[in-house]
Amino acid sequence: MEAGVVQVGAPVLRNKAEDVPPETIPSAEFQALLAKMIDTMRKAPGVGLAAPQIGVPMRVLVLEDREELMASLSPLEKQERERVVVPVRVFINPTLTPIGEEKVTFFEGCLSVAGYAGLVERWREVEVSGLDEKGQPVTWRVKGWPARILQHEVDHTNGTLYIDRMLTRSFGTLPQVKARFGGKPIVDVRKELGL
Ligand code: ZN
Repeated sequence: MEAGVVQVGAPVLRNKAEDVPPETIPSAEFQALLAKMIDTMRKAPGVGLAAPQIGVPMRVLVLEDREELMASLSPLEKQERERVVVPVRVFINPTLTPIGEEKVTFFEGCLSVAGYAGLVERWREVEVSGLDEKGQPVTWRVKGWPARILQHEVDHTNGTLYIDRMLTRSFGTLPQVKARFGGKPIVDVRKELGL
């Protein structure tokens, strides 16, 4: 299922990735990398991917969220997570700034830690700046689930995985997490885990 996604333990997931020289962005080679990343993300399927996850140590991320990927969430879960459809976006050499003080905690998984999930506290709102797929400067201020995806993917470009940030006692396999906590409000999840 995660064919082509580098799994935890590989050094490329733990090293700091390199900035992309902006003049290389229009090249066929770099555009092919972007196409491969988007294709890999969709096939997995996932809502985001960073270049190190396909073995390329560059500071590039893609994200996209689709209705079909939210199908297993209840209306409450969708609302709590502020999960919304996001058309595909590319950020090259991203920098991320938290907006405000508010943090939110939800289960999160990673295509490079296949089969597991854990609770991770993230900023509710962030601003990301970088270059888009054409090499043009782009800034996006966003809250909710897309903000979480951005924080997760920018972490990847710095060699950080969600397991470094998670509330370790919440860690579990996806089937166990789903069976135990699926459909429950996050306040109940925290109570049950003693968090
Ligand atoms: Zn990941």
